[in-house]
Amino acid sequence: MIRIKSILSMLLFTVAIYAMAATLRCSNCKKRISGQYLKSSSGQIFCGSKCYKSILPKCVVCKKRYNKGFVSASGEKYCSKKCLSTTWKVCDLCKEHKPTGIITHNKVFFCATCAKLPKCFSCNEPDHCFKLSDGRNICHKCKKTAIEKEFEAKKLLQSVRNVMRNELKLFTDNKITVRLVDQATLSDIAGHSDNRELGLYRYKCTYTTVTETKKRLFHKEEKSTSIKNKKEFFSVLLLSHIPKKKMIEVISHELAHDWMQAYYPNIKDIKVKEGWAEYVAHLMNSVYGQNFMNSRMENNPDPIYGGGFRKIKAIADRDGNKAVIRYLEYCNK
Ligand SMILES: [Zn+2]
Ligand SMILES: [Zn+2]
Ligand SMILES: [Zn+2]
Ligand SMILES: [Zn+2]
Ligand SMILES: [Zn+2]
Repeated sequence: MIRIKSILSMLLFTVAIYAMAATLRCSNCKKRISGQYLKSSSGQIFCGSKCYKSILPKCVVCKKRYNKGFVSASGEKYCSKKCLSTTWKVCDLCKEHKPTGIITHNKVFFCATCAKLPKCFSCNEPDHCFKLSDGRNICHKCKKTAIEKEFEAKKLLQSVRNVMRNELKLFTDNKITVRLVDQATLSDIAGHSDNRELGLYRYKCTYTTVTETKKRLFHKEEKSTSIKNKKEFFSVLLLSHIPKKKMIEVISHELAHDWMQAYYPNIKDIKVKEGWAEYVAHLMNSVYGQNFMNSRMENNPDPIYGGGFRKIKAIADRDGNKAVIRYLEYCNK
C-alpha cells in the first residue's frame, strides 16, 4: 500500500514539471507552435494541414489519406465507394463491380440485379435472353453455336458417329432417322413433361407374320406361323437450339443407346442403359477435348443417370473397358 502511494506521488510530480515547461508542440513533427494551429477532434494539435493529414487513415487501394471513409465487410478501410468497389466481384453480365449477387454452378458471378433476368434453358445462367417459340429462353453465349436447323443436326450426328467409330470403335450400320424438335414435341414423345430431356433414341420393330395351314391325309390340320418380314426403325430426336458442344454430348449419348440396342438388346435395367449412354458421352467429351463438361455426369445426383454412370465408370477404372463389356454381356442374359 505504501509502495503504490509513493509511485503515484512521483508520477504526479513528473506531470506537473512537464506541464510547467510545456509550450504547444505539433503532434506530428514535434516542432514548437507559435500562432495558428489545428486541433483534431481527439484533441491532438498540429502545426499545419500537412502534419494534420499525415495522421489520417490511408486508403488501402489508392493510398491517399482521407477524412471520412468506407469500411468493407472484412474491416479494410477505403477513401471512397469507388475504391471500395474495386474489391467487389465483377458481374459477368453488366461487367460492373457489385457488392452482392449470386455465384452459379459454373462458378460465374452475377450481381443481384442481373441474377433476376430470365435463365437460359441450356446453361441455366441469367441473361437478356432470346425467347424461343416454345417458350424456352436462350442466352447470347449459347445462341452463338446453337443447332437451329435439322440439316445441321443431321450433319453433326454423322460426324459424331464417325468420330465414335474411329476413336472408340463403337458403331452400328443402322439407318438412323434424325429429327430436330421443340420442347413440347420431345416431351410429348418421351411421355413425360419434366422438360429435362435433350434427346431421345427410339427403336421400333415390326414383323409381318404368315400362318400356314397344312392339311395331310389322316392327320389333324397343322398350323405354323413364321416371320416373313422384320422391319426395324431407328431414330434420334434432338431438342433444337442446344449449343454445339452440348449437342455433341447429347448425340453421343443417343448413339450409345443405338449401339446397345444392336449388341445387347436384352438389357432391361434402365440404370445400366442410361449409365452406359452417359459413360460413352463422357468418353466422347474427352475425345472432343471438352472434359470440362464431364463434371456434370460425375456429380449428377440422379440415381439412374448419375448412379448408372458412376457404376460403369468404376468398373472401367478398376478393370478396364473389357470388363465393362463383360458386365454388359452379363446384364444381357
Ligand atoms: Zn507539424
Ligand atoms: Zn482510395
Ligand atoms: Zn450485373
Ligand atoms: Zn446459355
Ligand atoms: Zn438415354
